[in-house]
Amino acid sequence: MHETPAADDDLLELLDEPEHADADLHRPHDRPWRILIVDDDGDVHKATELAMQGLTVEGQPLVFLHATSAAQARQMLGSEDDLAVVLLDVVMESEDAGLQLVRHIRDELGMSALRIVLRTGQPGYAPEIETVQAYDINDYKTKSELTRTRLYTVLTAAVRSYRQICALEANRRGLEMIVESSTSLSRMRGLSRFAEGVVTQLCALLGILPEGLVCAQVNGETPEEVRIVAAAGQYSGLIDRPLAQVKITTVRERLERCLDEQRNLYENGTCLYFGMGNGRAMAALVDVGRELDELDQQLLRAFCSNIAVGFENVVLYSQLLDQAYNDPLLRLPNRNRFVELLDKNLKDPAGVTLALIDIDDFSDINDAFGHHFGDQVLQAVTHRMSEMLGLNTAMARVGADTFGVLGEHAKVCPDSVQAVFADPFIVAGERLQLSATTGLVRLSESKAVGSELLLDAQIALKRAKQQQRGSSQYFSAAMGSDARERFKLLKGLRAGFEENQLFVVYQPQVDLDSARVIGAEALLRWRTPEDRFIPPDQFIPLAEQSGLIIPIGEFVMRAACAQLRKMQRLGHTDFRMAVNVSMAQFRHPGFIDMLARALHDSGVAGHNIELEITESMAMDDADLVLRVLAGIKRLGFSVAIDDFGTGFSSLSQLRQLQVDRLKIDRAFVQEAQSSSAGSTIAQMVVNLGRGLGLTVIAEGIETEEQRRYLIGLGCHEGQGWLFARPMPAEQLETWMQR
Ligand code: C2E
Ligand code: CA
Ligand code: CA
Repeated sequence: MHETPAADDDLLELLDEPEHADADLHRPHDRPWRILIVDDDGDVHKATELAMQGLTVEGQPLVFLHATSAAQARQMLGSEDDLAVVLLDVVMESEDAGLQLVRHIRDELGMSALRIVLRTGQPGYAPEIETVQAYDINDYKTKSELTRTRLYTVLTAAVRSYRQICALEANRRGLEMIVESSTSLSRMRGLSRFAEGVVTQLCALLGILPEGLVCAQVNGETPEEVRIVAAAGQYSGLIDRPLAQVKITTVRERLERCLDEQRNLYENGTCLYFGMGNGRAMAALVDVGRELDELDQQLLRAFCSNIAVGFENVVLYSQLLDQAYNDPLLRLPNRNRFVELLDKNLKDPAGVTLALIDIDDFSDINDAFGHHFGDQVLQAVTHRMSEMLGLNTAMARVGADTFGVLGEHAKVCPDSVQAVFADPFIVAGERLQLSATTGLVRLSESKAVGSELLLDAQIALKRAKQQQRGSSQYFSAAMGSDARERFKLLKGLRAGFEENQLFVVYQPQVDLDSARVIGAEALLRWRTPEDRFIPPDQFIPLAEQSGLIIPIGEFVMRAACAQLRKMQRLGHTDFRMAVNVSMAQFRHPGFIDMLARALHDSGVAGHNIELEITESMAMDDADLVLRVLAGIKRLGFSVAIDDFGTGFSSLSQLRQLQVDRLKIDRAFVQEAQSSSAGSTIAQMVVNLGRGLGLTVIAEGIETEEQRRYLIGLGCHEGQGWLFARPMPAEQLETWMQR
């Protein structure tokens, strides 16, 4: 809650002085026309002043200033800037002292509005007509010509002309400023910067000190939500307050009326309206300190209509910014803003910890109670977290149910997060015991910046989740390099798959007694553009974790089917193609359909294909395995359990499974001749297979000795370098000819 400090209130009461404000706003227009008489004849001064005594021009009195030489006049002109007319003698110190003064006024002082009336005693000293034109001399009269009436007429004409020139000049300057300001204003990003610019530009336009304030009403909010978005001078204390809370009645009421009536108000102080429809509008109050004349009003109208466009841009931009940087539900910074914040904090990372706090099982809450309830849960958590983690902690929503928190080590730590979730939350009358898992990074211990830092926290969070829900884990450099390496590899794999860097090789499987080929195992290969082979043991786990294995697995299956079809066409009708299948594929709901389509599209029968699933897969979720296996069998596939001997199969489970073959892992084949333990496992697998009525195949046979040993155990199928290495499709075809 925003509480207005008492001291500020007092200040505002002081500011609230209507009499003072009104007096200022009603200052009468009583500026006299100032006229300078330059003549070395003292009588001329007296006569002129006497003749013009009591007369007014355009309702304003005349005031005379006196110089008795061109030199004195120069001095006075240097310090007087609102002279309207100079009545100038031509012959003074020198015969053309007056004409030289004209040159000085126009060329050196650059006073172009000041009207000049030349008076001369003798017609003979008349300046040439070009001089009159070049120096914009208003009138040229001999002194004898100038009767009282003539003088008055001449002065009136000069004053009028002066006033018009000033008006034009002001108009030009004003228009220039409007053009300038609307371009500079439309470049401003953010409403308050814009409003501040409007105050400044307006004051410059009206030639007053920056005083006044602006308030904005954006997006048709209710009037109570109108806030002061910019203010200058004596009003600057009002910035960011709701308009309704402004205690200076005159100011508040004028702004309210302006927004209400949707027009500029000039009486009792200038208040300008900037509207864009859709209920979006801004009102600007300017303390002009004088009543505005028609010219000022025209300029202001031009200004308003010019900057309305700029305002609209700014509103759009700030809405975009809002959406890009803020989470509307929790009124917290979002991920983007948080990354910015992290970048800033890195300048001084000492003592700062970043935590990612992930609410456990939040999706269950959403599913069980609905999204609206879920939103309320998040709000409750936000509320408690901001209360408990303290003022100097920055919070953001970085994911659906994940918060980012940044603060001192002592504030942002596993204990403080635990404390937040210790007591149950009451949401919509429900008591809810929540827990959260946390990943933390001490900024000084990570080399990462911005979003990478968030990645480090994510890595730690993932570790924590793997360990135990509700636990926390600090990030360590070792975790990071692993994860970053894997992340890079995954990116490369994704691109590599798209760019056809993946292909399938085939390793023949043989009858161990006769060395006759019975089939082949399809094995995936990845060759990078740099001609580097990445081993499948490295990239397949990544593909599995990322889900990329689904399209890749389909690719392998289709390649294997196509190759099988080819082998059959070449006359190898009994050829059996073995294809490895991952758990992620196995669990995928479209798996059986994918298999069916691959068979259909390639025109091969399922019974020529064997799927290799690992022992650990076979022992996973029994219901799922049975169901999927049933689907596989329906398509006619045979199934082998790969890497057999590495897992912990339960015999009873194994018996339930509809599998055809056990595959002895190459580790046990290679140990076979050297260690008795190895031989025990190989022997055990063969015995188990015999007991269950399954065939047994061995992989990784490298030596003749191993082949004979396996035959001795009763294993009659195998593959390995002894017979052939995995080879590309074309090579397989020629290899088969032999
Ligand atoms: P795996 O299914 O156990 O495949 C047998 C591995 O043993 C293959 O390694 C093969 O090249 C290798 N091998 C064959 N004969 C010998 C031998 O005499 N001596 C030795 N030392 N090794 C031999 P590879 O091709 O590197 O594949 C490694 C693993 O990657 C495979 O183990 C399999 O789990 C996985 N994998 C390969 N291709 C695919 C695939 O298309 N899909 C899936 N899901 N996994 C695959
Ligand atoms: Ca295999
Ligand atoms: Ca294996």
